[in-house]
Amino acid sequence: MASRRFDVQTLGTGAALPARGRYPTSQLLNIHDSLFLVDCGEGTQERLREAGINFLRIGHIFISHLHGDHYLGLQGLISSMHLMGRVQPLHVFGPPKLKEIVDLQLRASGTYLRYPLHLWPVEPTNGAVIHEDTKVTVTALRLKHRIPCTGFVFRESLALRGLRRDRSAVIPHFKRQAVKQGEDLVLPDGTVHSNASLTTAPPPVRSYAYCSDTAFEPELVPYIAGVDLLYHEATFTEMLATRAKETLHSTAAQAARIASMAGVGELLLGHFSSRYKHVNELLAEARAIFPATRASEEGQVYPIPERTGVENL
Ligand SMILES: [Zn+2]
Repeated sequence: MASRRFDVQTLGTGAALPARGRYPTSQLLNIHDSLFLVDCGEGTQERLREAGINFLRIGHIFISHLHGDHYLGLQGLISSMHLMGRVQPLHVFGPPKLKEIVDLQLRASGTYLRYPLHLWPVEPTNGAVIHEDTKVTVTALRLKHRIPCTGFVFRESLALRGLRRDRSAVIPHFKRQAVKQGEDLVLPDGTVHSNASLTTAPPPVRSYAYCSDTAFEPELVPYIAGVDLLYHEATFTEMLATRAKETLHSTAAQAARIASMAGVGELLLGHFSSRYKHVNELLAEARAIFPATRASEEGQVYPIPERTGVENL
């Protein structure tokens, strides 16, 4: 059976300025064994190397906005993929100006990529579908930041129905796939078995929302409602609420309020200002409002487990 993994790995949890032991924003998503990169701050290549990830397996990259700590690692990664002999296409989704920036650097260095590079312009429109394939649908979020900034929601595709173990003897092998897809079973002698009598419902679809960078923005709530895992930036604590407002970032408490309003399963904080040596303070502030909160750590993997009570054959 194909893998049903749904993992989020935080490769960098820092904000704009370097902090010891923290790196600029980048995340790697493994959804059913397809790899998606979300943001690509400086040094993302090294972080991927440390995590033992083969760059060539990454098929899609999503860039939220054009502040350097979210995309300055992209050109290096594109170039390394070229040097490594990549041939399969790479799809990069980001602000319209990103294409200009990437093309200029390729031209200036006289690089002719060996693989097709597709740069797709993305506008921050809540709920707009950016990408869809057999494993996942990615929609946009309109984040509230100093420059246009897009968040992303990743929703896995619905799994096939499970075959009931006690009824599996009835189903000829060559009919199994059709039954899993929801068809009734019609046997050669004309007997009909309804699909409901042979199968169990698939596990619920899992989803992940990425919100960085943004000020407190309740308009996001309907678009991230009920996601299993929400990553929300928490650059400051409430002590610096004014600074958060000025720079259009969020406090940990604001991130927790959004998580609570949206009724998400779990909240993951990140994009920590370099002024915080330890993140305990940010974590405590958020947990007081939304207990199911974690502070993201460099290189850590956060799996979203499948909620399944059924036996899939
Ligand atoms: Zn920013």
